Amino acid sequence: MKICTLASGSSGNCLYVESGETKILVDAGISLRQIGLKLRKLDMELSDIDAVIVTHEHSDHTAALRNIGVPVHVARATVHLWSSKVNSLREFDTDTSFVIKDLSITPFSVPHDALDPVGFSIESGQGKKIGVVTDIGSVTALVRERLRGSNALVIEFNHDNDILLYSHYPWDLKQRIRGRLGHLSNNQASELLSDLVHSGLRHVVLAHLSQVNNRPEVAFESASSALRRTEEGTGVQISVAPRKTLGEVLAI
Ligand SMILES: [Zn+2]
Ligand SMILES: [Zn+2]
Repeated sequence: MKICTLASGSSGNCLYVESGETKILVDAGISLRQIGLKLRKLDMELSDIDAVIVTHEHSDHTAALRNIGVPVHVARATVHLWSSKVNSLREFDTDTSFVIKDLSITPFSVPHDALDPVGFSIESGQGKKIGVVTDIGSVTALVRERLRGSNALVIEFNHDNDILLYSHYPWDLKQRIRGRLGHLSNNQASELLSDLVHSGLRHVVLAHLSQVNNRPEVAFESASSALRRTEEGTGVQISVAPRKTLGEVLAI
C-alpha cells in the first residue's frame, strides 16, 4: 500500500491511497486543477482514480466534488447535499464496510460539527491497514477500536493548546476549535497515538495542522515524545503533512 497527502489543513484536504491496482482519494478539498497537477507529479491522471471517499461535507474536504468525474462515496445523511451536483454518487452507512476493488473500507463516526462525520479504516487485500481521522473534536472508544492494529495512521494534530490560547482568534472560535465537536489538539492526538502504537505501526502522518494555532515542529515534538515513551514507538516514522504541497509517498 502507498499513501501520500496532496494537501492538508483548513485550506484543503486530499489524501491519495493506493493498493495494487486500486487508487482512491480520501476527500477532495482542493481545486480539481490542483488535484490534477499533484497527481501528475505522482505520474497519474484524475482518470486513474477509482473513487473518492468523503469524511464530511465541510468545504475544505469537498471543494472539488462537483464535476470530479469519478465515483464519490458519501455518508447517507449527506447524500441530499450532493445529489444534484455529483454524477456518480454512492452512499455508505457509517460502520458498514464497503469495497472498492481490493480495498475494504470501514467508515466510523467521529465527534465533529458536521451532519455525519466519519473517519476511515482502510484495509488492503494483502492484510495492511491504514487509519484516517481528521476533523475530530474528541476521541471516543469507537475511534480507538476502529484505528487499532493500523500499519499507518493519518491523525489530526490541529492545534497546540498554548498557541491557541494566545492567538488572535476570537474567543467563540477558540471555543469551537477546543470543543468536543471541534478539532484535536497535539496533546489529544499524541495520547491517541501512544494508545494505538504496536509493533506493526510503521508510519504516522500528522495532518490538518492549523496554520495559526500550531507549528510543524511543535506537533512533531509532541508526537515524537509520546512515541519515545513506548517500547514499540521507536520504529515508527513521523511525517508532518504539508498544507499545500505533496507530502512524502509512504510505502506500507
Ligand atoms: Zn477540515
Ligand atoms: Zn470539518
